[in-house]
Amino acid sequence: MDYQRIFAEAIERLHAEGRYRVFIDILRDRGSFPNARCFHGHNGPKPITVWCSNDYLTMGQHPDVAAAMETALRDCGAGSGGTRNIGGNTHYHVELEAELADLHGKDSALLFTSGYISNEATLSTVAKLLPGCIIFSDALNHASMIAGIRNSGCEKQVFRHNDLAHLEELLAQADPEAPKLIAFESVYSMDGDVAPIAEICDLADKYNALTYLDEVHAVGMYGSRGGGISERDGVADRLTIIEGTLGKAFGVMGGYIAADRNIVDVVRSYAPGFIFTTSLSPVLVAGALASVRHLKASSAEREAQQASAAKLKVLFAEARLPVMPSTTHIVPLLVGDPVRAKKISDILLAEYGCYVQPINYPTVPRGTERLRFTPGPAHTEAMMRDLTRALSEIWSRLEMRLAA
Ligand code: PLP
Repeated sequence: MDYQRIFAEAIERLHAEGRYRVFIDILRDRGSFPNARCFHGHNGPKPITVWCSNDYLTMGQHPDVAAAMETALRDCGAGSGGTRNIGGNTHYHVELEAELADLHGKDSALLFTSGYISNEATLSTVAKLLPGCIIFSDALNHASMIAGIRNSGCEKQVFRHNDLAHLEELLAQADPEAPKLIAFESVYSMDGDVAPIAEICDLADKYNALTYLDEVHAVGMYGSRGGGISERDGVADRLTIIEGTLGKAFGVMGGYIAADRNIVDVVRSYAPGFIFTTSLSPVLVAGALASVRHLKASSAEREAQQASAAKLKVLFAEARLPVMPSTTHIVPLLVGDPVRAKKISDILLAEYGCYVQPINYPTVPRGTERLRFTPGPAHTEAMMRDLTRALSEIWSRLEMRLAA
């Protein structure tokens, strides 16, 4: 067996398809994000503007968050020192779970080391405990939900993205006695569209199904306290489990679920991805706690982000750049080819100091490769105009088609 050849060929396939991933080496400038330093392809750091961060509200730079982390580090040291069950249940964890349960109007919440793990651990554990459970999964669900569903060993039925008629067709065909779970997201992060949550809850009521909503790309950013689209739409109480991340709009790291007491207790007690791992550092938890508390009380960041996203969409549209029809803060620009998407991203970085990562298969379907911009409260109009001008020049240089 020629192991090396097999691995080399696997990498070669990615190169041949133009979707080999190159990580860009950067350091964000504390206090002046989206400015950062780029070490990629240079002898020394070069100043750049970051356009693809999921620190959507710049909370990772917020003075209250940084101060809370510094205090926790001085107070308790770096790590938690254990699993939640064995020495790693710090008072910060307990406080943050209470804050998150309150954010979503649920009895309880449970922290995980990432949003990925929260999806994988919760979906696999909950469904496994329901004999004969059928999981109805939106076709565009995130890889972590797909992994959880697969690891549950349950039957999976995939409904077309946001297609209520198709979901109902599948629910109606299923054994009425079988336990059912509908798993979906609120904001789909690559297209920026939103699920019809209330209507999905109506179907769940009609067919007696549980609901699992991933709000990773919405928590902090939607709803009057940052409880996500389910808060904005007034439907949080209709959802069985709401899942979120602390690593995007909250600007730190970690994931969580919020649900009723029994469900949280079951996941806490049975999920290997929760039990058998060192808990989040108290430093991270303290930062997340400050961030969640801040965004519960302040809407300024949310409003500024929405204004930035609206502005960038208008500038792209005016320049006839092929901006995709997102209804949220996400601004995707369709390229439709992995090699070109990479090339545009490379030119933007090297010549214009603008950093946006190309998004390729399997993150998005082949033929829909894109550049995904996430303007936030700190992106100025001048930055947006510079970016639009740079993209227009590149579009023309590469003889790419403009929108009608
Ligand atoms: N769910 C969705 C929809 C995501 O896009 C992501 C990450 O990009 C995750 C879950 C995982 O969250 P985390 O980055 O906290 O692991």
